[in-house]
Amino acid sequence: MELEAQASDRMDMEECTPTPLQRDPPVIRRLDEEVVNRIAAGEVIQRPLSAVKELVENSIDAGSASITVVVKDGGLKLVQVSDDGHGIRYEDLPILCERHTTSKLSKYEDLQSIKSMGFRGEALASMTYVGHVTVTTITKDQLHGYRATYKDGVMGCEPKACAAVKGTQIMIENLFYNMAARKKTLQNSADDYPKIVDLICRFAIHHMNINFSCRKHGAARADVQSVSKSSRLDAIRSVYGVSVAQNLLKIEVSDDPSSSSFKMDGFISNSNYIAKKIAMVLFINDRLVECGALKRAIEIVYAATLPKASKPFIYMSIKLPPEHVDVNVHPTKREVTLLNQEIIIEKIQYAIESKLRNSNESRTFREQKVDTLDNSVSTSKAASTPPSSFGTKPQKVPVHKMVRTDSQDPAGRLDAYLQSSQSSQMQRNSCLASMRSSIKERRNSRETADLTSIQELIREIDSSCHTELLDLVGHCTYLGMADDVFALLQHNTHLYLANVVNLSKELMYQQVLRRFAHFSAIQLSVPAPLRELVMLALKEDELEPEGIEHENLKEKIAEMNTKVIKQKSEMLEEYFGIHIDPDGNLSRLPIVLDQYTPDMDCVPELILCLGNDVNWDDEKDCFQTIAAAIANFYAFHPPLLPNPSGESLQFYKRSPPGDPEEGSTSHSPDDIPEEQIEQDLFLEAERAWSQREWSIQHVLFPSMRLFLKPPTSMATDGTFVKVASLEKLYKIFERC
Ligand code: ADP
Ligand code: MG
Repeated sequence: MELEAQASDRMDMEECTPTPLQRDPPVIRRLDEEVVNRIAAGEVIQRPLSAVKELVENSIDAGSASITVVVKDGGLKLVQVSDDGHGIRYEDLPILCERHTTSKLSKYEDLQSIKSMGFRGEALASMTYVGHVTVTTITKDQLHGYRATYKDGVMGCEPKACAAVKGTQIMIENLFYNMAARKKTLQNSADDYPKIVDLICRFAIHHMNINFSCRKHGAARADVQSVSKSSRLDAIRSVYGVSVAQNLLKIEVSDDPSSSSFKMDGFISNSNYIAKKIAMVLFINDRLVECGALKRAIEIVYAATLPKASKPFIYMSIKLPPEHVDVNVHPTKREVTLLNQEIIIEKIQYAIESKLRNSNESRTFREQKVDTLDNSVSTSKAASTPPSSFGTKPQKVPVHKMVRTDSQDPAGRLDAYLQSSQSSQMQRNSCLASMRSSIKERRNSRETADLTSIQELIREIDSSCHTELLDLVGHCTYLGMADDVFALLQHNTHLYLANVVNLSKELMYQQVLRRFAHFSAIQLSVPAPLRELVMLALKEDELEPEGIEHENLKEKIAEMNTKVIKQKSEMLEEYFGIHIDPDGNLSRLPIVLDQYTPDMDCVPELILCLGNDVNWDDEKDCFQTIAAAIANFYAFHPPLLPNPSGESLQFYKRSPPGDPEEGSTSHSPDDIPEEQIEQDLFLEAERAWSQREWSIQHVLFPSMRLFLKPPTSMATDGTFVKVASLEKLYKIFERC
C-alpha cells in the first residue's frame, strides 16, 4: 500500500467529520509490518547520499583496502559500492537484509564500546524496502562467490553461484520506486551526485590507507580517485588539491597527556585560504559526523580572528572514550552528542585561535622579507600582578587637571610638553629615538610576538583572569538592557546586572593586544585633520574660565598633540592600524571587533587620549596606554544623545521660541504632544540606541563569551551585581 495514498485517505475522512466535539475517539490500530518497515527505511535512507554513506561504511567495517562507488542518475537509478573486504558468509545471506540483523553487536552493553560504524543492522534492510538490492560476495579461500537479490527484507531465491573477485558488491537499483512523493521531490531538486563526490572526498582524507574511487555510471574517468597515502597532508593534497593543502596549519589538542581522554588532531586553513562556505570534515572516533555547535563555534573564531573573516577549511579527527559519545542519538548516526561538549568546544576554539594568531604573525614577517634576525629579545617571566586598574579607572581626565599635573609624574601629561625646556626636550627625544630604534630592531625579528611587552601584557590578562567570572561570562544568557549601562544576565539560577561599558572596554583592550600588528582597517571617507580633532575634543572639555588666553592654550595643546601623534605615526600604523597621512590627517582606524563600528563622534576624544594619556617612554606602558585609549574609544558607551525612551524624552521637546527653559519642567514625559518633538533628532537617537542594543546582544555578548578573560578586579568593582537567586524567588512564589 502506498503511504502517500494512506495519508490522503485520512485527510478526506477528517474533512467529512462535522465538528471535533461530536467525533468518536479514533480507533487505534497496529500498523502493518510492511508499513512500519517502510517508514523506518525512509528515515535511515533519506536520499541516495545516505545509501552511499551506509554502503561505504559497511565496506570500511569489512576491512577493505579499496572501495569503488558508481552512481547513475544521482543515485536514483543505481548506487553500486564494491569493496575488497572480508565478504559475507554464504550461511548469512538469507538473513542479511532482515531488519536488526548485524554482525557487529550482540548485546546492549556492546553499544558502549562499539568501534564499527554500523551496529543497528538496519541499513541494508531499509534499502530493500525502498529499492531493488543485489548482493554479490565472496569470502576468503572460496573458489566462487554468490549473488542474491532482496526485496522488503527477504531474499528473492537461493543465492546463485557466480564468479567474483575478493570482497562484496552491493547494488541498489530504482531507489524510492515505491515512494512516489519522495522520488518526485528528489528528481526536482539538484541531483545528489556532487554531494556523493564530496562524501567520498571526506572519507578519503580520513581513511588514507583505503583507495577510494567515485564515478558516474558509464563515465570513463573517476571524479574522486584517491590512492593510499602515508601522510594526512598528502591525502588532503591528492583529494582537495594543492591550493587547499598549501594553506593548511596542523593542529593538535589533547586533554592531559597522561589521561588520553580527549584528543584532537587535524588541519585548519590559514588566513590565505579564501572560500565562501565553511568546509568541515569531522570524524569522531573515526565516524564521519556533524556537530553543529562545534562548526558554529569554529566559524566564530575565524570571523573574529582573521581580518578577512574568510570561511575556513577544517579537517578534524577527535578521539574520545567510546562511552563519552552517544552514537545512538540520531537515526542515521550523523549528529553526535558528546559528554562535556562545551568544554571540548572551548578547548578547540582556543587552540584554533592561537594557531591562527601565531601563523598570521609569522606570515607578516615572511611577507616583509626582512632577514635580520634579532633573537636576543628576551622573554621575561609572566608578571603575577594583575594589570593596573585598567577598566575601572576613568579614561577621561579633564584637560585643566592635566595641565596642573604633579611634575613628579610628567610622563604622558600635557604639562610635560608645555613646560618642556631645551634639555628635557632633548632627553625626551633621545629616549624616543632609542625606543623607536628598539622597536625597529624588534620589528625585524621573526615574530611580532617576540615583542616581550606584548607577550607580558597578554600573560597578565591570562594570569589575572577570574575563574568564576570567566564561567559566568562564558555561560550566561543575555536577557536585555536594564538601563543605559547595565545589562541583565542569567547564569544558572542567578540574575546579574553587568556593566556593559566596563565589560566592553576590557574586551576591546584584550582584543587590541591580541590583534596587535594585525588589524584590518576602517577607512574614513574624508580624512580628518588631527589638529581640528584635538580642538573639537578640547571644546567638549570646556576649559574655564573662557577667554583669549585659554583659546591660545587650547591651540598650543592641539599643536603639541598633533606633533607627538605625527611623530609616532609609523608605529601607530604598524602596530595599531591607526593611519595618519603625511599631511597630519587621520585616515584609517583599526577594526577591533568584527561586525562592529565604533561611534565616530568619539574620534576627537580618541586623538586627545593618544596625545595626552600615552606614556611613550616605556615600551610596555606605551602599548598598554595606547590599547587602553583605543579600547575606551571602542567601548559601548551610551550614545551622546540621551535615551529617547522614558524620562529623556524631554530633551527632544521643541523649545518654544524665546522661552528655551519652559518646556523642560511643565510636562511629564508621557504627555508631550507628538508635534512638539524634535523629530529628526528623536529618530536619530532612537536609531543610535537601538543599534547599540542590537550590537550588545549580537556582537558584544557572543564575542565576550569567546574571548573575554575577566580580570579579578571585576569581581569587586561593581561590574557585576548579583540581583536575585531564582531558587529563592521560586520559593517565595511557592509560599505565596
Ligand atoms: P550494520 O552495519 O549496522 O551491522 P547493515 O544493514 O549495514 O547493518 O549490514 C548488516 C550486516 O551485513 C553487517 O553487520 C555485516 O556483517 C554485513 N555486511 C554489510 N555490508 C558488508 C560488506 N560490504 N562486506 C561485508 N559484510 C557486509
Ligand atoms: Mg551498516
